[in-house]
This record gives sequence, C-alpha cells and structure tokens, in this order.
Amino acid sequence: MIQPPDAEARRAVAPVICYPNDTLPRPDLAGYSAALARATVIDTVTVPPREAATFRVPAGGFFRIASVDGPQVGDLNLWHAEDLGERFYSGKTRALHGTHVNVGDRLWSSFPHLRPMATVVQDSLDWYGIDTFGGAVHDVIGTRCDPYTGHLLSGVQYHQCCHSNLVRALAAELGMSPKEAEPHVHDVLNVFMCTGFTRDTGQYFMKASPVRPGDSWTCLAEVPLLGALSACPGGDCSAEHTSDAAACYPLRVEVLDAGDMPGWAPPARNGYDGSHGL
Ligand SMILES: [Zn+2]
Repeated sequence: MIQPPDAEARRAVAPVICYPNDTLPRPDLAGYSAALARATVIDTVTVPPREAATFRVPAGGFFRIASVDGPQVGDLNLWHAEDLGERFYSGKTRALHGTHVNVGDRLWSSFPHLRPMATVVQDSLDWYGIDTFGGAVHDVIGTRCDPYTGHLLSGVQYHQCCHSNLVRALAAELGMSPKEAEPHVHDVLNVFMCTGFTRDTGQYFMKASPVRPGDSWTCLAEVPLLGALSACPGGDCSAEHTSDAAACYPLRVEVLDAGDMPGWAPPARNGYDGSHGL
C-alpha cells in the first residue's frame, strides 16, 4: 500500500452534509402531539414472536408500536393502503434524516412519489441518543433478516426470518400467494433495534436493545397506510438472528383516531415533472 505524500491532508478535508434537510417542509409537531394526546385506540393487533402481522391506518390517524412482556425488536414495512407501488423508502429516509430516526423525522415513500408516508411523533426511547459505540435506536440501516443471507452465510433453511414473516403476513392480508407477495416486501425500519457501524471496520453492528415492556413509538399516518410488522427472531438482537436461539416476545400495534386535525392535509406527491429530460 503506497501512501501519497499528502495523504493526511486529503483525509483532513472536512465533510459536508449530503442532503441538508432544513428546506424540508416541517411537520406541525405541536399539533400532532396535541392530536395524539386526545386520540383513542380503534384497533389493536398483537404480533406473535417470530411472526408478522398487518394493520391499516387511515390518513391522519396514528399507529403506536409497543413492547410487551420483554425486550423485542420489530421490522416494519409500510405501503400506501391503495397503491402497493408506493412504499417506504429506507435508503432515502436514511439519506435525509440519518441512520436512525427521531421524533419529527418523516418516513419517506419510494419514487416517483417521494413524500412523507408517516411522521414520528412519540418515542419513549428518545433519551438514548448515540452511545459510546456509535449505536442508536430505530434504524434505517438494516435491510431485515432474511433466509437468503442466512443460507449464504450459514447454509441454513430457516423460515421465521423477518423477510419471510412479512411475506406470509402480506400474502394473508391481500389473498396473494407468497410468490406474489414477496416482491412487495422491502427494506424495513427496525423499530427499537440498537445498531451502528464499527469505527475500525465500518461493519454493521447490533447490540441489546434498550427497549423494555411499556416502551412505545408512535407515528402519524400522512397517507392511508397498510403496515406489516415482524417480531424479529433475534428478540432484542443482543446475540443472533436467523435462528430460534434468542428469547422472543410479542409486539403490540395500536391504531388510534384523533378526529379532525386542524390545518393538516395529506402531502401531495412529489412535484418533479417526471420527464427525465426527454
Ligand atoms: Zn429480523
């Protein structure tokens, strides 16, 4: 390995933020929080350990994911309830807000829509911040545990990965075959999962989630949503996934209705003209 004479000077160049996000439309968090405070639960879904379940949220409603019984991580997929082609875009959400989402951050949808599908309104783990390992909660880094990577790395045939759980849940919800449902399953938001990148090798790491029973994370649905949540076979993701080794617990999803929210309207689809220069 040959170091150029100005190697240190090149490394010392200061970074710039790829996507300064101060021009993004700001959510009315105070209004959202006030609506959440008066909202009532209209539906409750329990996600069994190592399984997934679906839920529907009307635009302007809320969904709350809660830890029950023990520390557990959830893998979340979101679709527009009337158009499976508009779905959560983990990579662009990461580019706009960072590796982990916080209160006030939006969950963005895929091209050509690219609009907020949901907004994070409440998080009982907001105290965690970024720990000394560089770890934080609610990641948009990880893609979801899946049987293909499991087979690639360990040769296993394991069927309770989040990917497969989400495929089965979506197939059951929409009356599709698993083969039809699978292409709609996409990179997730890892609710409650504590992750980061190692400083020395840049590898994706996970560590025991700080979530405890009673903790919750709540979003406003900016558009009508179909959601699917998997209770990851990794449990609190302190050791391993893609196996039945970890202790796993259910997750609870509550759908809440707050009635009319003054001043709120569903966001328009992205304003790019779609011509791509042609
Ligand atoms: Zn998983």
